[in-house]
This record gives sequence, structure tokens and C-alpha cells, in this order.
Amino acid sequence: MAILAACGSSADATASTTTAAADTSTESGETAASTTAAPEAEAEVADDGAEEEVVEQAGAPGELQLQHVSLGFVSAYVLVRGSEAAIVDTGVSGSGEAINDALTMMGLAPSNVRHIILTHNHGDHVGGLGELEGEMTNATVWAGVGDVDTIRTSLTLSEANDGDEIFGMGVVGTPGHTVGSISVFDTDTGLLVAGDAINGDGEGGLLGANPDFTPDMEGANASVAKMAALGPRVAAFGHGGAPVTEDVTAKLAAIA
Ligand SMILES: [Zn+2]
Repeated sequence: MAILAACGSSADATASTTTAAADTSTESGETAASTTAAPEAEAEVADDGAEEEVVEQAGAPGELQLQHVSLGFVSAYVLVRGSEAAIVDTGVSGSGEAINDALTMMGLAPSNVRHIILTHNHGDHVGGLGELEGEMTNATVWAGVGDVDTIRTSLTLSEANDGDEIFGMGVVGTPGHTVGSISVFDTDTGLLVAGDAINGDGEGGLLGANPDFTPDMEGANASVAKMAALGPRVAAFGHGGAPVTEDVTAKLAAIA
């Protein structure tokens, strides 16, 4: 699993990214930091911006690569397989440039994006969609049943159901935070991208859904158990820092 630190605020992370992802990291990192948008309605787990980025060896061509786009208090993700990309979540309004910069860092263009996966319809996850859809014209937008009906986009909008496959990953219905919350899981790499179904604690730990913004905590906890049963090795989430790579399954099981 190659996790490329696209947009961390620490100089170390930016420098070490250079070895994994060509030579555009410095510019992208700074651009990303400067486009951090103000929190809107859902200011969840505070992220102080001190990202603990993880850079592993870049994968073979075609292998799934994950790029973390830190947008301040919320994260988006760029997933790449060869010459194709998928975006998971789009940050708040104003995040489009940072996401496009991350894509550029991976050597791809907006036209290479085939999927925009929205884990749920909250403003800090769908807010950048309007800025991306004009250029990412080859992409299909996906969201879960219960959230998809309230999303507006000029692109093709499709319903993502539990068990569907998108970009080679399985869709996992993880309701609770919202009715239609979805996660995606890649069996080969063990990567789970969970939106707000889980949170990071900023120190390598994992937390369940934030009770302040989650109407169905019982459902949310059941979703955590469902995710733990998949045996993920890498957990990426909306709030609480960079993806977690240590003891992910055990941490999820402990929450559930
Ligand atoms: Zn949310």
C-alpha cells in the first residue's frame, strides 16, 4: 500500500514525498495548505494541521495508490491505478484546487478521473464537487442510497449500494453518521476509506463516528463492527489527520 503524502503542512512530509511522487510536491503542498477553507456547518474533530504523514514505497504500475489531501479540518483522497483516478470526497467549497494539485502530483489530469465517490452528503465532503465537475467530465459521481437523492451535479450521478464495485474496490454500506454513508474497501491493499464513519484521533488512533454529528450512533457502531470484520490494514477518514496504518483492524474492533 503506497500512501503518498500530498498536502501535509510539515516540511518533512513534503520533502519525503518528493522521493515517492516526482518533483512537484513542494509547490503542491504549499498550494494545498493555502486553500484550506473555513469550516461550514459541520466542524467535527479539530485538526490542528500537524499532519503525521506516512510515505511508503510507491507501488507497481496499476497498483492502487492513495494520496491524502489534507484540507485543514477535513481530508479528501485521490486514489490512482495506473492512468486512472478516483476522488473520494471533495472537501468544503474552495477545495477544488488542492484536489487538482494532488492529482497533478500523481502525474494525472482531471480527465483521468473516472469516479468521484462521496462517502456522504455533508457540506465538508461534497462542497468541492461544483469546482471539480467542470473539468472531471469523464467521472461518474457515486453516493449511497439515502444521500444520493439530495446531491446535485452536472455529471452522471449513480447510487452506490453495499457490495457494488467501484474502481476495483468494494462499496461497504456504513450507515449511522448519515443514512446513506458508504465506505470503500480494497481487498488487495487492505485500504478502507470510511468518510465520517470513523475518525482519527490525530495520534495514530481511531475513534468511532462523532456523536455530536451522528443521529444514529447504534447504527454507526454496527458499521464500525462491519468494517472491522473486513480486516482493513489502512484506514483513511474525513477528520482527525492522516490515514492510520498500524493495527487498524484491532483498533476498529475495540471501538465496536
Ligand atoms: Zn459528516
